[in-house]
Amino acid sequence: MTTGSTGSPTIFYEDGSTTAINWAHEQRLKHWYGLKPGVKEARLKGISTQYETRSALRSIRKYLWNQLILPGFFLSDREHERSLQKIRKFRPHVLWGPTPGLADLARYVQRTNQDISQYHPDLVISWAAPLYEHEKKLLGEVFFCPVTNIYSAREVGHVAMNCPQGSIHVNQENYIVEIEGADVDKQSDGPGRVLITPLNASPMPFIRYRIGDLAELGESDCPCGRSLIVLKKILGRIGDMFKMKDGHLIEPNFWCLAFMRGRPSRDVERFQVVYLRTDLLRFRIVPRPGYSTETEADLRHFMEKSFPSEMQCEFEYVSEIKPQSSGKCPIVVNEISRQ
Ligand SMILES: [Zn+2]
Repeated sequence: MTTGSTGSPTIFYEDGSTTAINWAHEQRLKHWYGLKPGVKEARLKGISTQYETRSALRSIRKYLWNQLILPGFFLSDREHERSLQKIRKFRPHVLWGPTPGLADLARYVQRTNQDISQYHPDLVISWAAPLYEHEKKLLGEVFFCPVTNIYSAREVGHVAMNCPQGSIHVNQENYIVEIEGADVDKQSDGPGRVLITPLNASPMPFIRYRIGDLAELGESDCPCGRSLIVLKKILGRIGDMFKMKDGHLIEPNFWCLAFMRGRPSRDVERFQVVYLRTDLLRFRIVPRPGYSTETEADLRHFMEKSFPSEMQCEFEYVSEIKPQSSGKCPIVVNEISRQ
């Protein structure tokens, strides 16, 4: 499934070939930064803090890939500290993770005034969200190394990557990237919706797939010398994070997961989460015919489990959820920032 950042997760089929090409592109990216295949890498992932490798296969894979897997989301200070201790011991050359998770770890290091100059990585690779300038600066300062970003989506793979000179080069051997809305013949004329066509054989081809971002495309005039075309500007990406009172970050994907389980996955057509206060949110729901009080109870139970005390929720039932003027229908609407 896609993360459903537009509010309705899409089911697609994959046989491992996209993942394999992703790995190849990651090797390429590391090569751009002078790193050899197989260098030690710490990966922040959306796993539970209780995560331990139980399967032999996973352990072998981790060993062969020379990887340290760490939890990347919803971490308390103590959990950040535990991750740092593991990083200190493992001494990875690459620190890899979703931008918000990496930035959170960096803020923790900064806040607690830790000196990590002795065991800093050689490269930070962020993905799954845009890398804003302030985040790039923060990561670079805290981890004393270059910071790069992979422009990627679960269903199509690693579309483009940041070179050492800062351009976002499209992996043109494997993707056709087009911009819709701008002048079709002159693609460099202004921003438009990004359309992606992966070129590798896959059980489920995507053709001119609307990935949900607005961007601008241009020929490469990058000083790095690579002739791969560049995404000049990625204007928007769904991925607003919400910071709770205790500092925990909630990403839209969290709500996707909430609605991808059991009853809600069957009974909810579309949803949106509206943040009203740091301790109150509203589920705006387009119900399916099977929706009942039990579905609501399921969601309330999920909330109680996920946020033991502080988070309240209310429900609003609507017949449709209108997209914004950009055409996006974000799953998170932050009313707090507008107050
Ligand atoms: Zn370049």
